[in-house]
Amino acid sequence: MSKVALVTGGSRGIGEAISKALKAAGYDVAATYAGNDEKAAAFTEATGIKTYKWNVADYDASKAGIEQVEADLGPIDVVVANAGITRDAPFHKMTPDQWKDVIDTNLTGVFNTVHPVWPGMRERKFGRIIVISSINGQKGQFAQVNYAATKAGDLGIVKSLAQEGARYNITANAVCPGYIATEMVMAVPEKVREAIIGQIPAGRLGEPEEIARCVAFLASDDAGFINGSTISANGAQFFA
Ligand code: NDP
Repeated sequence: MSKVALVTGGSRGIGEAISKALKAAGYDVAATYAGNDEKAAAFTEATGIKTYKWNVADYDASKAGIEQVEADLGPIDVVVANAGITRDAPFHKMTPDQWKDVIDTNLTGVFNTVHPVWPGMRERKFGRIIVISSINGQKGQFAQVNYAATKAGDLGIVKSLAQEGARYNITANAVCPGYIATEMVMAVPEKVREAIIGQIPAGRLGEPEEIARCVAFLASDDAGFINGSTISANGAQFFA
């Protein structure tokens, strides 16, 4: 029987590439999204991967959604907490709402996604948790106090989950992408984007598939002793 993988924000951007890579690796994949019905429908049509709509910031909605996925596909073996947003502003202009939206989605959203599947993984003595963090959680970023706080928080989450899960054969790891060519980054003004590319020693943005391959590896049996770790995929930008 195929293993079951849940990918939040799995219908577009990096999540879309992750969903496709896991499907290609033989998983039964459930991809979630927040509200872009049109994109989700096109994604399902193109890939055959079922989509589910709920807000990761809402615990009850996440729990109910996960129960539905498990009723449809069976117990979830692999969770990829990928859904995320930005609400950038320099700190002196950042509003409490901008802070709260990002914390609720990117940080509490990870709790809401992992917590409902955790008891089943412990019982079955198998689980793979992969959280999509960011280079900006590792190094901070101008106008991203909120976002960097959540992405640094993700690293604390996986290191702690790893210690709790290890004896149940559950691994928890993070992937820290650098700048990847998705709508999130293409929405940045072109001038700023060019400046960003200028800071990447590889001289280009990353491709979503390059992140998806890291996730597929962390989900695989080959990665069974990798726990509490971070894979950085950023074209050497971190060291520039
Ligand atoms: P996109 O904006 O392209 O896609 C975001 C996905 O998350 C969409 O599927 C969206 O659903 C979903 N989503 C957003 N908010 C919620 C929510 N509240 N509940 C459920 N789903 C939600 O993002 P990327 O693919 O660029 O980013 C994916 C992850 O990678 C994020 O965590 C991001 O922080 C991280 N990352 C991205 C980098 C980049 O350069 N792009 C760099 C480093 C990290 P819908 O389609 O319905 O809106």
